[in-house]
Amino acid sequence: MTVRGVERLSPRMARVTLAGPELRGLTVEQPAASVRVLLPSPGERELVVPSWNGNEFLLPDGTRPPIRTFTPCRCDPEALELDIHVVLHGAGAASQWAGAAEPGQPAAVSGPGRGYVVDGDAAAFLLAGDETAIPAMGQLLEAIPAQAQVRVLVEVGRPDARLELTDRPRTSLQWCDLPPGATPGDSLVAAVGDAELVPGTRVWAAGEAAAVQRIRRHLFENLGLPRGQASVRGYWKHGRSGDSDPGA
Ligand SMILES: Cc1cc2nc3c(=O)[nH]c(=O)nc-3n(C[C@H](O)[C@H](O)[C@H](O)COP(=O)(O)OP(=O)(O)OC[C@H]3O[C@@H](n4cnc5c(N)ncnc54)[C@H](O)[C@@H]3O)c2cc1C
Repeated sequence: MTVRGVERLSPRMARVTLAGPELRGLTVEQPAASVRVLLPSPGERELVVPSWNGNEFLLPDGTRPPIRTFTPCRCDPEALELDIHVVLHGAGAASQWAGAAEPGQPAAVSGPGRGYVVDGDAAAFLLAGDETAIPAMGQLLEAIPAQAQVRVLVEVGRPDARLELTDRPRTSLQWCDLPPGATPGDSLVAAVGDAELVPGTRVWAAGEAAAVQRIRRHLFENLGLPRGQASVRGYWKHGRSGDSDPGA
């Protein structure tokens, strides 16, 4: 499959449309699911398909291929198109690819991986995430029943990373600006710590791995939230390339 088009949703987010017959049969049933995208190695135009050595995928030269995880956004089985929204954070294979992608460039996709099962009976939800979680949170806001109360906390690295996320009723949206130089996740962790959770609230959180670990501790150790009421997922790891979530 190839890149069909690229559009800037904000200075920090690109929508990349992938298209090709390989997308036949790809269906995404749940919100906040995942797909894994194989990219050309940096500086290359051709896509080299890696082989599985029983433990990991490797390229013929023994290096690890750039495979990154994204939220499948629009998935059109007729047009055989798939959109992913990629944060343009700077020096990363996917970020650089999305920032410079041109129609016709090759890519490959596998998946989908599991998404989130929305409890249709829950009266309240807390959604917390950073910029990488904006695509998933948009889908969750559409999937959560209209009668539920939803609190949304989104950490952004810069104010112009804000995107239109929802006009859903019974929803409060709070953008949490990360001060320059602060550790990713600090503002989100603080906002989650301040959030009041009514009994029975379902929590979905995703973002930087160490930050979501702090959120996990707050929810389970400080608040004693039953584990079944929360889904907390590391989406990337500060200072490390690749996925932080082996289950993605
Ligand atoms: C289930 C799941 C769904 C995801 N959905 C999305 C999605 O829809 N959109 C999206 O953009 N990302 C999403 N991610 C996160 C994405 O996979 C990672 O951010 C990935 O590391 C980006 O790859 P890269 O090649 O750009 O950077 P990498 O090569 O992985 O990392 C290079 C450097 O950049 C840093 N870095 C990586 N990501 C970020 C970031 N977002 N902000 C600041 N620094 C960063 C790393 O710590 C490292 O130091 C998802 C992850 C998972 C597990």
